[in-house]
Order: sequence, then structure tokens, then C-alpha cells
Amino acid sequence: MHYVSTRGAAPVLDFGGAMMTGLARDGGLYVPQSVPQLAQADIAALAGLSYEDTVFRVMRPFLGDTFGEDEFRRLIADAYAGFGHAARAPMVQLGANHFLLELFHGPTLAFKDFAMQMIGQMMQAALAKSGQRITIVGATSGDTGSAAIEAFRGLSNVDVFILFPHGRVSEVQRRQMTTPVEANVHALALDGDFDDCQARVKDMFNHFAFRDTVGLAGVNSINWARVLSQVVYYFYAGVALGAPHRKVSFTVPTGNFGDIFAGYIARAMGLPIERLVIATNHNDILHRALTTGSYATNGVRPSISPSMDIQVSSNFERALFDALGRDGRAVAGLMDDLKSTGAFAIPQGALQALRDTFASGRCGEDETSATITATLAATGELLCPHSAVGVHVAQDHLSATPMITLATAHPAKFPDAVERATGIRPALPPRMADLYDRPERVTRVPNDLTALETLVLQRTGRA
Ligand SMILES: *Cc1c(COP(=O)(O)O)cnc(C)c1O
Repeated sequence: MHYVSTRGAAPVLDFGGAMMTGLARDGGLYVPQSVPQLAQADIAALAGLSYEDTVFRVMRPFLGDTFGEDEFRRLIADAYAGFGHAARAPMVQLGANHFLLELFHGPTLAFKDFAMQMIGQMMQAALAKSGQRITIVGATSGDTGSAAIEAFRGLSNVDVFILFPHGRVSEVQRRQMTTPVEANVHALALDGDFDDCQARVKDMFNHFAFRDTVGLAGVNSINWARVLSQVVYYFYAGVALGAPHRKVSFTVPTGNFGDIFAGYIARAMGLPIERLVIATNHNDILHRALTTGSYATNGVRPSISPSMDIQVSSNFERALFDALGRDGRAVAGLMDDLKSTGAFAIPQGALQALRDTFASGRCGEDETSATITATLAATGELLCPHSAVGVHVAQDHLSATPMITLATAHPAKFPDAVERATGIRPALPPRMADLYDRPERVTRVPNDLTALETLVLQRTGRA
């Protein structure tokens, strides 16, 4: 199983190499050279399996010989043992043909746990074999950071640094990052927005001397192993509603395009997905891009669904790569345009290819609140604001094909927005009820590459 860069000019790697490398050295993202197929019978045979057994069957074809079969089964069992629901990803019904896939029962209450717990186990196993020590640096709009810290806290061969935009994450999100006591955890509040955080992380990866000195590894959704781990729940939910004998559609609250790209891979593997609907909040660059053909940044406005306050959706590059006929030079050209002018035009053929798979919609702030209120009244389900964006957009795409909207976070992670919409202040699950009482540890950092690199070198004992 070989992985190639979307910009066509980085070494070809195996699964383990792509996982440990994160961002390719040509600035691109790793994708499989060809996507393994699951036959109809293989998909049908997933019916009734546990979540863990589904993980094994869906991910196994992508791994090559990186892990032995028994070893991989153990990693999966450990990854999902800390989830607060036996089904891992339970589904509830919102309407006649509309379902909600609850992806918020992991240790930090957002869907990020599904992939981060897996990548934590897989990286740990790979490092134990190589004896290597690595430095993880990640950018977060809130949920990736806490999920990463939860997955890597206390490991002896890993330091984990998380950059989050100062003042722009919810209190629960912040506390989940700042309260772990382990010395290898470093929460950094950056003076800037999420795109600044993500840009500084990419800068560190592109600074090869620094990258090699600290053994830089990435766990943002630019990391293929994370996207792959998320492919699983598309199969789990699709099969529960009758696939492969019946088609399904998905609506995905989208920021960095990682989660919905996992759905795209599930479709490429053979899951009969009719439509993948991109749901954005008022930061709607992806919706505008699909509608107009112009991917144009125009500033991020804070919203009540902060984990989607993003402009540069990194994983969109993976979909573009396919839409451009896997022409890495063409992708690199568009990304250069984006860097120099803040925009690029999607060529007509590629735009058509994207529209064949993806639909899109946007949900404003008032609509988000109104959807939380109305969904509670109609179904008893309390949505987080991100999930509400999904439910709102999905309503415009309901048809005879079952629609599955992804619920990406637990309402208790965003209690202020939920309380304003419903009068109910959602409680944290008992296993984390003391979160508000634990002391916090955080470092305020400037939006400056040199300052950040110096801090990482010092904290890892290299300067
Ligand atoms: C990260 C996140 C999203 C966006 O997912 P992407 O993979 O970045 O598109 C949506 N909702 C929540 C709660 C998140 O944490």
C-alpha cells in the first residue's frame, strides 16, 4: 500500500511512514495511490458487527504490513475502551428519513476522539518498535487539541504542543487542554485565529532543519491516519440503515474538510453514498467555492460553532487532487495562487467532478440557535451548535434516501449557546464532572514562528 503527495513531489511512503510524516515535504497531503475496494458482499458482512470489528475490516486494507493482525486488534480495543457508550457511535432518528449519528461519546466529547484515540495507539506502537522520540505540534479550533492531549498525555517518547486561538475556544474546550497535569503536555494560547495557528504549524513542517531536530509529527487532519480512522463510522452507520442494498446520504458539519473527506473515501471504497452534503456556518468558504467555483478567503468571523471557524480547509486539497485527475503540479499551482492572492479558481472540469459528489449549504447564527430549539421540541435531542448547523442544512437535502447527519460534539461542550437556545444548561457526563475545579496550566504565545520554535526547543530540552 503506497501513499503519494497531492503535490506530486514528495517521497512515496507506506502507511507507517505517512502516519509519522503528517504533512508531505512538498507541502502536500498524503493520499493512497489507489483506494482499496470492499465488495458488496464484504460490506453486507459488516451488518451487526461491533464498532471495533468494523474498524478492523475497514482500516485493514490500507495498512500494508505496518501492524500484525492481533496487534492491530489490540490497538483498536484500547482506542475505544474509554468511550462512554457501548455502541461507540449510536444513531437516533430525528424524522421520517433523517438520522443523527452521535459521535460525541469519546473521552473529550467530540468526534475527534474517534481518530485521535486510534492514531495515539498506532503511533505509540510504531514508536515502541523504532525507539524514536517525537514532538507533536498541532493547531486546534478547540476539539482536536483536547482529543490529542487526551490521546498522548503521559507518554514517555512524545511531547505534545497544542496551539489554540486565544479567547476563541469554549471554556470546556480550553479546560480540557489546560488541566492535564502531565509534563509532556503543552497548551499554547496563540494571539491570532485558527488559521494563524494552522499556518504556524505548517511553517514548522516546512522548516526542515527544525522539523528534523525535534522529530516533528502532526496529528491534524492533514494526517492520513486520522482521515482513515473516520472512514469507519460511515460504513457503520450506512450498513445499519441497509447499505449496500440501499443508498444513504450524509450531511457533515465541516471546517477543515477532514470528516467529510473520510466520507468521500468510504464512497470510493464502495459504500453506496448518494450525496455528501457540506454544512458550513457563516464562515462559508466551501459553500461559496462549490456554488461559484471561486475559493476565496475573506476573513474569519467568530461564531457559536467555533470548531468550524476556518477558511483554509486543508483537506479540500485532497478532493481537488482527485477532481484535477491526480495532477500534483496543478494542485501545487492552485495552492500557490491561494498563498499569494488569498484565492484560486477551480477549473470547470474539476468543479463539475466535485459537484457530482458533494452538495453544500450554509447556516447562519440565528438559524443555528433556532435549529437547536426546534430539534429539542420535535425530538427531545439536545444538539451542540455544530451538529445544529448540520441538521439545518440537511433539511434542505432530505429525500427518499435516508439522510444521516453527523453530530460532531456533545452539547455540554458548548453550554452557553445551548442554554441561550433552549433554557437548558447541559451537564457534563459524570466521568468529567470536576473539569471546572481542576487548576489550569497554559502559556500565552505570539503569532511568531521563531518565538514558537524557540519555545518548543526549550521545552523539549534541545536548547
Ligand atoms: C473539528 C470539528 C468540526 C469540523 O470537522 P472538519 O473535519 O474539520 O471538517 C465540526 N464540529 C466539531 C464539533 C469539530 O470539533
